[in-house]
Amino acid sequence: MYPQVVPFVGAHLACLGAIWSGVTWQAVVLGIALYWLRMFGITGGYHRYFSHRTYKCGRAFQFFLAFIAQSSAQKSVLWWGAKHRHHHLYSDTEEDILSPRHKGFMYSHVGWIFAKKNDSTDLAKIEDFARYPELEWLHRYELAPTIILGVLSFLMAGWSGLFVGFF
Ligand SMILES: [Zn+2]
Repeated sequence: MYPQVVPFVGAHLACLGAIWSGVTWQAVVLGIALYWLRMFGITGGYHRYFSHRTYKCGRAFQFFLAFIAQSSAQKSVLWWGAKHRHHHLYSDTEEDILSPRHKGFMYSHVGWIFAKKNDSTDLAKIEDFARYPELEWLHRYELAPTIILGVLSFLMAGWSGLFVGFF
């Protein structure tokens, strides 16, 4: 454990706040909508677009994708893309940072995030996106999308909106 992984852990634990806040219908609808949107951000954005460049899109939509994905507290768009490219470059070798072959399923699924050596971002691996100042800004202020969307969720549906809808 080190300070940079606290938001990731906190985002998972915070849903327990629902025990205190209760569950409203507005929060449930918000939760379903945000789950769909952010999962698209991660799989369609972080993975397919920013890591693999599977498709092309405009600069505004590119920023929207990065912002939505980054609101999930899975670290910055440049960090995610660089780590994933590294993973494909060295798949299942000793160099692979998240191979189940060398350190097991739990390490490859989530444990590797807690290894401090994986906290840094090799910007050379993601320089095609690092050249955009708005993505560089997101990289620098990693938690900004998470905090902004969390506050919006609270404003839309109260504490339940935050714990159930957002977390
Ligand atoms: Zn991939």
